[in-house]
Amino acid sequence: MYSISNKILIEKRIPVEEDTFINAEIGELAGVKFSCCNCGLENSIKITPYETGFPVFQLYDDEKVLAKNELLSNKIVSETSKNSLHFGELTVNDLPTLYFGTDCPSCGFKYICVFSYGEKQPGLTLLSISGVWKYS
Ligand SMILES: [Zn+2]
Repeated sequence: MYSISNKILIEKRIPVEEDTFINAEIGELAGVKFSCCNCGLENSIKITPYETGFPVFQLYDDEKVLAKNELLSNKIVSETSKNSLHFGELTVNDLPTLYFGTDCPSCGFKYICVFSYGEKQPGLTLLSISGVWKYS
């Protein structure tokens, strides 16, 4: 799991096994599972709240890694609602949004995963995985 600081090209979306975790599920089993589109290996990454990931803002800051419109057109994030703008201009579900890069341990194909984590409403903590994309 790593951060990305150079310009990348989003190639395609990779289906994930499960994309929404609520409350206690998050501590127990929140993880991203997807099959590598090259070698078929199942990649499995555990998400630990407040440890896993880097602010998604770092991707579109000065459009260093990805332009805002690339993030929007690939449906990686959405424009944040007015009353949640403190979480940043682009988010998933109007919650703090993070990303990480990961390489398939078998063949080295590169993937980016974007997710959000936070309290959606009192008593409802939500972890939503926006998706995993193959990039180059
Ligand atoms: Zn692979």
